[in-house]
Amino acid sequence: MATNTLKPGVVTGKAYFELVDACKSGGYALPAVNITSSSTANAALEAAAKANSDIIIQMSNGGAAFWGGPSLADSHNARVKGGVAACQHIHMMAEHYGVAVVLHTDHANRKFLPWIDDLLNFGEDYYKLHGHPLFSSHMLDLSEEDLKDNIETSARYLERMAKIDMSIEIELGITGGEEDGVGHDLAEGANTDHLYTQPEDVLAAYDLLTPIGHFSVAASFGNVHGVYKPGNVALRPEILKHSQALVQSTHSLANNPLHLVFHGGSGSEKAKIAEALSYGVFKMNIDTDTQFAYSEPVGNYVDAHSIAFKHQIDPKDGTPYKKFYDPRKWVRACEVGFADRLVEAFKDLESYGKSIAK
Ligand SMILES: [Zn+2]
Repeated sequence: MATNTLKPGVVTGKAYFELVDACKSGGYALPAVNITSSSTANAALEAAAKANSDIIIQMSNGGAAFWGGPSLADSHNARVKGGVAACQHIHMMAEHYGVAVVLHTDHANRKFLPWIDDLLNFGEDYYKLHGHPLFSSHMLDLSEEDLKDNIETSARYLERMAKIDMSIEIELGITGGEEDGVGHDLAEGANTDHLYTQPEDVLAAYDLLTPIGHFSVAASFGNVHGVYKPGNVALRPEILKHSQALVQSTHSLANNPLHLVFHGGSGSEKAKIAEALSYGVFKMNIDTDTQFAYSEPVGNYVDAHSIAFKHQIDPKDGTPYKKFYDPRKWVRACEVGFADRLVEAFKDLESYGKSIAK
């Protein structure tokens, strides 16, 4: 497959679709990292530049609300405008990092469809002005509903989004665990059949969505949000293979016709990740591990400079501690930890050194 080169910066529409194809034909995936602030956004961009890999940056509704301002009484407004503000920051800065950057939203269940509606209102206005959308793709997660309701609602959204060159990510089957209040708790010994996507469901989604526009599918193969004690649910990447095979044989298509997404990537075994890549996974979400990687350094920093977090000036000898408590010092330590962990993710997903932006 030809690998076209893309312009560095945020990629949407055709450029995004080409990037997805480049990942799949190259046998690698991009980390989709959750950001909540300009600090985590910049650290994500820094990591991508360092690894010379393209990257997917995404926001949950809670992440967007945090960016918008957690004290705001109207949290819907904070979620919408926070998401728009984050995009504007990244559209402005991304090109300077020399890689292609995809902007995505994370899980929106039925309750959060009004969030997507208003992001699309802003997205359509932005499209009129700039000729490209704010976000490359939105994710709807209606996996707890009937298949019919799930894919028909997704189709309605894709109709609107395709007009402004956007893609959609849908979820079929349920990702275990919980992400920002969306998801599913895993009781010990619970029946876990619903955690495995049925290939027939994927085919139904493919048939409905393909004539409308570009889409990707988060299929469940025992993946779980967060990091848990292993052993509760088994990862079975062959589920992905079966879905690809059914769509491929039904429509006489080339290998791996579906664009697949791996949720709950934190803490996964490397061999299972590699297997998932071979079945057309181009995006793997990472949040829990990068949250810890951002927080761990501040713990170390405070341990090393604890006095500077209690006194501006040393109570005994008058030494000023500004250079230690300046928030840029310890926030920067967090950013470096976050970026280092992401560089590891680029290596696990085999996207390290493979940016197609020039
Ligand atoms: Zn997820």
